[in-house]
Amino acid sequence: MKTRTFGCAMAVFYLSLALRAAAQDLGPHFKKVADGIYVYAAVLNEANSTIIQTQDGVILIDTGQSPKDSHVVAAAVKKLTSQPVRYIIHTEPHPDHIMGDFVFSPPAIVIAHAGATASIKQSESFSPQRIEKQMAASAEMREAFKSFRLVTPHVEYRDKMTLSLGERKFELYYLKNVHSEADTAIWLPKERVLFTAASVGVKRFGNHRPFVSIPDTLSGIKMMRALNPEVVIPGHGVPGSAKILDDMGKYYAQLMDGVTAMVKAGKSLDEIKKELKIPGTEDWEGKDRYPNNIEAAYRAVSAK
Ligand SMILES: [Zn+2]
Repeated sequence: MKTRTFGCAMAVFYLSLALRAAAQDLGPHFKKVADGIYVYAAVLNEANSTIIQTQDGVILIDTGQSPKDSHVVAAAVKKLTSQPVRYIIHTEPHPDHIMGDFVFSPPAIVIAHAGATASIKQSESFSPQRIEKQMAASAEMREAFKSFRLVTPHVEYRDKMTLSLGERKFELYYLKNVHSEADTAIWLPKERVLFTAASVGVKRFGNHRPFVSIPDTLSGIKMMRALNPEVVIPGHGVPGSAKILDDMGKYYAQLMDGVTAMVKAGKSLDEIKKELKIPGTEDWEGKDRYPNNIEAAYRAVSAK
């Protein structure tokens, strides 16, 4: 009996070693978060790109910070399987999530929320000048842009979409006014894995454009929290648990409460920016974005 328990323990030990080795073989910046699901970002807080294997091919959630990263992801896919990338799902239409789509598409079909194509076409980020500037960063980057073609989504869904591939099911949910014109949360119900897009960060302030709404972001966080995820993969930052959602929800609630109280006390926006401190955010990244977080809260409070 004892021997059998020991044998089992050894088998589990070797299996876990083998699994760890498998993620390691993909390269130093890949993190295995569940069976057949690998998250990649070369540098902390750069956009995550995730490989999801299925029996019928691969799905990517975003294609990496730059085409250089997309080629790293493409090489990892080749190590994992001989099957192609069938679908790319965009969490948002900004260049640090989609510029490298051309590495996979064709044949990959690109899926995004309605408004993504319009956002890409209007954006300065995809102008020939900006792309030339990005290519000029290094010889390696110029090489990575070889055969570059701007790929816009083939499918745009509205509000909710379900996609099945092989043994996996993907639920896509529109996140309204959280970061870009077309943000998508992706939920794998069987695996309990959630992709939050840039609605939340990990110890990092988000960039709140004028249309970003904190009340809408809080509703989005509540909706995603109700799914009860085991693994949470933000658009940027190290994957973790539902604590990522809880921490960001708490921050926005405190921000709204703080701004509400100061507006009631007759403070101006400038005074609030100078005086309001949110405990627990002292070591967060992106402090230069904090004033635009306050502006977003101030807009919401003033609109009430
Ligand atoms: Zn973005």
